[in-house]
Amino acid sequence: GQKVVLITGCSSGIGLRIAVTLATDEKKRYHVIATMRDLKKKDKLLEAAGDVYGKTLMLLPLDVCSDESVRQCINSVKDRHIDILINNAGVGLLGPVESISIEEMKRVFDTNFFGVVRMIKEVMPDMKKRRSGHIVVMSSVMGLQGVVFNDVYTASKFAMEGFCESMAVQLLKFNIRLSMIEPGPVHTEFETKMMEEVAKMEYPGVDADTIRYFKDVYLPSSIDIFEAMGQTPEDIAKCTKKVIESDSPRFRNLTNSLYTPIVALKYADETGGLSVNTFYNLLFNFGPLMHITMNILKCLTCSCLRRRTISPD
Ligand code: NAD
Repeated sequence: GQKVVLITGCSSGIGLRIAVTLATDEKKRYHVIATMRDLKKKDKLLEAAGDVYGKTLMLLPLDVCSDESVRQCINSVKDRHIDILINNAGVGLLGPVESISIEEMKRVFDTNFFGVVRMIKEVMPDMKKRRSGHIVVMSSVMGLQGVVFNDVYTASKFAMEGFCESMAVQLLKFNIRLSMIEPGPVHTEFETKMMEEVAKMEYPGVDADTIRYFKDVYLPSSIDIFEAMGQTPEDIAKCTKKVIESDSPRFRNLTNSLYTPIVALKYADETGGLSVNTFYNLLFNFGPLMHITMNILKCLTCSCLRRRTISPD
């Protein structure tokens, strides 16, 4: 029979594309419940989905930051039966920590970390009873590796990785799979806009050197990296489909082979020195050439590292 898939954050970007990719599956294997905070934003998804809306695709409102909304949403699913939960909703946060209030940081954690926890708590008991299910979480390379000026976003994704790594063990006992997907940069419409906005912003209370490192060193190399090695939401949707269709889904799934050497550094040197110094050199000594350096790293590392990536095709 059809598998019921519930996805969070489907009004744009990766979530929208996953919903469309699964709902248009040729063998019609999925009944997709695409959820979003505000159903007024449904047009882009419906346009992309075409005639599968009302057939393999339905919509429900869901705000992952609200206990009540999460409960209501899952209660309105037939028999509360969800085979595959895809936690995609997330928010970014970029900039010098001195300029970010604790309230703003909590908002990021409430979405990226507690949002996933809320969903898992609501869906897991039924999956446990049925002794089946698959929970997928849209993490990030930044869930495994800290990235300068993305301190709080990175922390929220690390928190989720830690939570899920712990949960995966007991869930396996109930025949429930848990998979993290760790994309590198992905082109979504917000990315360039966010970077442009951030470049224009003033940062009162932040010292001049920090602002310079952020705006003149970090931002150009970050934009360069997005342009040189960004994947598309389609790529990530295809990877996600592969993960849920695998007979033995892996726990971690990096999608961009340029990042496997980077992530390997931290496991190669448990003191952390290798990671910190490599990132320091990449940022402050290679700066605008960062993506070339990363490509060289990729070429120099053995192909077995690269093969550990999940590829879209
Ligand atoms: P996006 O902004 O297009 O999508 C995020 C979606 O989550 C939006 O539709 C937004 O409305 C929704 N959302 C935010 N708060 C919500 C809430 N409280 N309840 C329900 N929905 C909410 O960006 P995206 O790139 O498609 O991001 C999707 C996921 O992929 C995020 O978890 C993000 O951290 C992760 N990710 C993105 C990138 C990238 O470079 N774009 C890289 C790695 C991981």
